[in-house]
Amino acid sequence: MTQTALITGSNRGIGLELCRQLQAQGFSVIATCRQASSALNALDVEVISDVDVSDPASLKTLSNTLGDRKIDWLINNAGIAGGLGLNDIDVNTLENFKRMYEVNSLGPLVTTQILRKHLQSGSKVGLITSRMGSIADNDSGGSYAYRMSKAALNAAGKSLSLDLKSDGIAVAILHPGWVRTDMTGHGGLVDADESASGLIARMTDLTLNNTGTFWHMNGEILPW
Ligand code: NDP
Repeated sequence: MTQTALITGSNRGIGLELCRQLQAQGFSVIATCRQASSALNALDVEVISDVDVSDPASLKTLSNTLGDRKIDWLINNAGIAGGLGLNDIDVNTLENFKRMYEVNSLGPLVTTQILRKHLQSGSKVGLITSRMGSIADNDSGGSYAYRMSKAALNAAGKSLSLDLKSDGIAVAILHPGWVRTDMTGHGGLVDADESASGLIARMTDLTLNNTGTFWHMNGEILPW
């Protein structure tokens, strides 16, 4: 039977590439985004716009649109890294810190909670985090807001993996690599296609036995 994958933040970058590859692999893809791009519209996938992961009302509208449809893979990909000043410690940037937390930490958690009724035994949830959320792996300092927001997401992912296990739903906490996208100013070590292909491999490997694993897309297990 055709599997359904829903991806957030799918209009560009890693999310767009996940949609492209999952569609090519035979998934029925529901690509959600705030605003569709021409690149996304060019794919043969279902596009649902006006989905902002920091806006629970838009997520409830998404759930209503889905009706009684089930999701096999929910990939929480949408995220922000911040621009000028967003990672500095300065009282003037507190609002920016909150915004990062709202999108990167609460966004995937609330998305998973609101879409929970579309998940069933056998469904899988992927949280696209960053190894910058690892405390053990931090050897360069800085990036306060981004690191804190992804560390909080990792904590949420671990709890979700424990809480959803008895319902047969597995959760992976996934680092996509250092990827050439808008977020990195197109610097990085890998292109979005290699990252997406690694992320799909990890989602394929994900079971109830390894639920809650913090994985690099290349298969390495990362320290918390
Ligand atoms: P991009 O900046 O290229 O894309 C980010 C995506 O997230 C866009 O589709 C953007 O949509 C969407 N987004 C941002 N805010 C919201 C929101 N409030 N609601 C819905 N969608 C939103 O980044 P990447 O593709 O590189 O990043 C994807 C994920 O991977 C992120 O979670 C990021 O933190 C993570 N990551 C990336 C790394 C890298 O090296 N690139 C490294 C580690 C982690 P819009 O066009 O509407 O802004």
